[in-house]
Amino acid sequence: MLSIRTRRDGSAMKVLVTGGAGFIGSHLCRHLLQKGYSVTCLDNLNTGFKQNIDFFHSYPEFSFIEADVRDEINIDVDVVFNLACPASPSAYQKDPIGTLMTNVVGTFNVLNLAMRCGATVIQASTSEVYGDPDVHPQSEKYWGNVNPIGLRSCYDEGKRAAETLCFDFMRTKNLSVKVARIFNTYGPGMDVDDGRVISNFIVQALRGDPILVFGDGTQTRSFCYVDDLVKGIILLSESDTAISGPINIGNPTETSIIELAHIVKKLTKSSSSIEYRYLPEDDPKKRKPDISQAIDLLLWQPEISLDDGIASAIDHFRKIIK
Ligand code: UDP
Repeated sequence: MLSIRTRRDGSAMKVLVTGGAGFIGSHLCRHLLQKGYSVTCLDNLNTGFKQNIDFFHSYPEFSFIEADVRDEINIDVDVVFNLACPASPSAYQKDPIGTLMTNVVGTFNVLNLAMRCGATVIQASTSEVYGDPDVHPQSEKYWGNVNPIGLRSCYDEGKRAAETLCFDFMRTKNLSVKVARIFNTYGPGMDVDDGRVISNFIVQALRGDPILVFGDGTQTRSFCYVDDLVKGIILLSESDTAISGPINIGNPTETSIIELAHIVKKLTKSSSSIEYRYLPEDDPKKRKPDISQAIDLLLWQPEISLDDGIASAIDHFRKIIK
């Protein structure tokens, strides 16, 4: 298949995906390979898995580098998607200093690599930059409500600092940068022990274990199916150079966590009970993206409904749960 954009010599554009063996990263690698890009995946396999990318070795244009984004990177690339960072609260809180440094030092390394190659950086930012929002839904104009010293800060403030670095490189060094703010994403390929709510609920329901709702379950999230999300990020990367974002990429259908528990129970036909546990510190009460910018500038909006997406995720977990 021909690539959308090719280099001057006609060869495929060279794309680096940091964190490419992770959940979103591996879906992104697959979509890029299918579009004809030459893809290098860089991952330290901390929360990513070789199994996620095994199949891609059948593409001659795929390569894997086992490395940490906090170390200097030296390869020739045209575009870098910077996804390297643990993203599940349980994973990023295990090594909070490492998480913060991955966002700051890792992003710094990616930006410097891009400077040397004349590449464009697509930064995977997050709805976490809005913290526990007091504006609803969240548009890109909102600056957020983030605790700088809490358990989530290593990720939230790390991602905020990474955005700052991106825009300072753009302003002071004229680097081409595009920032996507990714909202809660789910789908096939998630790890059984990922720790995020959709995977936890499905695994609990399939095993017949209690479905554990944190807090009273009235807190909300807006869940985006991974293929929708990846299409949005690729459209951003292929968009006009004047579009740098930040731009929200997510599904605006808002669901409470207790509603989600009932949807998962229904779709798995599970007899699991629903039980309540303490709400973790600084858990945002509500979250919903305003995606008008993505609709206007990228002509993108999500297509997969929550029920259909969860059904696909259930199929995936049925295959891997012992
Ligand atoms: N949650 C839950 N049970 C779980 C995991 C998460 O009730 O097993 C809740 C969590 O407290 C939060 C929401 O589900 O309110 C989403 O959590 P997740 O860790 O998936 O992502 P977040 O948006 O908080 O980063």
